[in-house]
Amino acid sequence: MNALDTFTSEFFATLWTRTQDGDAPETDRAALQPLVDEARSADRTGPIVALFAALESLHADKGWTPDQLGLSRPELEEMAARHERIDEHRVTVGGRVGRARPIVRAARSRVAEYLERHPVEAPSGIEMWDAIRENQERIKKILGMTEADWNSFSGQLRHAIEDVETLARVVDLPAKAVEDVLRVTKTYRMRLTPYYASLILPGRVNDPVLLQSVPTGEMVDNAGVEIPPVAADHSPARLIDQFYPRVVTIKATNMCAMYCTHCLRIAHIGAKDRLYGREAYAEALDYIRANTEIRDVLVTGGDSLVLPNSMLEWLLGELDAIGHVRMKRLGTRIPVTTPQRIDSELLDILEASNDRKPLRVVTQINTAQEITPVSRAAFQALSKRVAAVMNQAVLLKGINDTRVKMWKLCETIQEAYVRPYYIFNCSYRNPQFRHLRVPVAVGQDIVESMYGNISGDAIPRYIATAGGKIPLHRTNVLAHEEGFVRMRKPWSGEEVSYPDPTAGDYADQDFGFARYGK
Ligand SMILES: *Cc1c(COP(=O)(O)O)cnc(C)c1O
Ligand code: SF4
Repeated sequence: MNALDTFTSEFFATLWTRTQDGDAPETDRAALQPLVDEARSADRTGPIVALFAALESLHADKGWTPDQLGLSRPELEEMAARHERIDEHRVTVGGRVGRARPIVRAARSRVAEYLERHPVEAPSGIEMWDAIRENQERIKKILGMTEADWNSFSGQLRHAIEDVETLARVVDLPAKAVEDVLRVTKTYRMRLTPYYASLILPGRVNDPVLLQSVPTGEMVDNAGVEIPPVAADHSPARLIDQFYPRVVTIKATNMCAMYCTHCLRIAHIGAKDRLYGREAYAEALDYIRANTEIRDVLVTGGDSLVLPNSMLEWLLGELDAIGHVRMKRLGTRIPVTTPQRIDSELLDILEASNDRKPLRVVTQINTAQEITPVSRAAFQALSKRVAAVMNQAVLLKGINDTRVKMWKLCETIQEAYVRPYYIFNCSYRNPQFRHLRVPVAVGQDIVESMYGNISGDAIPRYIATAGGKIPLHRTNVLAHEEGFVRMRKPWSGEEVSYPDPTAGDYADQDFGFARYGK
């Protein structure tokens, strides 16, 4: 018989560690017998694993060793050898039962709380769909909307809720809140599409969709000085903002289908909708044409999908015609606030541009509640026609500032064909939404809690916006030593010593083909 591998000798040493004398009681032996019978003749790994797993628990729980349970060591060694022969990757009993299964048990315990709490703490719009549907029927009646109105973008906009009287008929608001909305909307716009309003379910004081869309008195009462908007010192040309050499944004409109209470662009959004003239776009395009290092253009707003199809088609066509522009992005919340906008005419325009040069859609979804069967279908349709659909969430107090809520958001949007891209720490520039800010460290804990626990491509990068996007991730590197880096696994806290090339080895140019001589 071959010598046991390290994992199996360690595992066997544990199994045979005696803690008491005598033989195990007949009941324990009898319980084990069917497993022994199966493992003896097994030509699959399962019965052998089951027997060793049972031996492991009988040892851990009751202290019995295999010989006290009537099993001989040579027989168990034979089973272990058979297991290794059967397994395609020659995994041993020690590796599988002694190591891998306890690691998986520990991993499972890290998500147990999430799995228990997410349906209650952060239900998705898909999970809430029955209640949302009922709410939609109610709102349709109140606003006198037909089925056709509800299902079209124009119908949603025509019936958009922009004043407090209409809002109060649709959403159950405390009297004091009604007064405050009246006060705030003298200065700032409020607009909810009936669809977005239907995601607000009655009876929840700080419903996360309500908080994002209906202003409170804090918006005008918060103390603090507003810092001039980014454009004031980052706009080298009309409609353009630029931080980086190769990416610029065109703020193509100041309109949105829904106005967010945490809007970073609140100063551009202003108090009323404005249409921009062709010469403004022409000047922006001239700037991009003249600056040949620009390769990626982000069309934003406001919300880029508020632009009529003819305008979008023209703008994308102009960008595609500029040789050094290699790719484009459209910034929009419309797939979650008014998914009815995503129709076949729009999709054809996006696909045509994407066929010329990659087009990505960058959206903003802050809660799983915003993913309904309808918005999911819109994202699915988009994802078939453009290069990527990516999400930029804003970390907001009471809205998505817990592990459970943010994990649920990232998993839900990923299942809706959207890739988590950024989480922004809410801007410090505006007192208007200071009450929604979350400390940087809270966001770090949330984002780093995702590593090892949800799919890697569902983990966004955490960013502060301060004249450009600055990464906020806490490093997992604890120390640099000669030839080693000490790191920490975010999901277990376990420290790992990771071999690193020394400076001397790395500087050595006598490698590869250079070693063959001149
Ligand atoms: C966000 C933003 C970009 C894009 O940044 P990425 O990190 O490439 O997503 C570019 N320009 C401006 C002005 C921006 O605000
Ligand atoms: S969609 Fe964007 S630009 Fe429009 S209000 Fe919301 S955050 Fe502001």
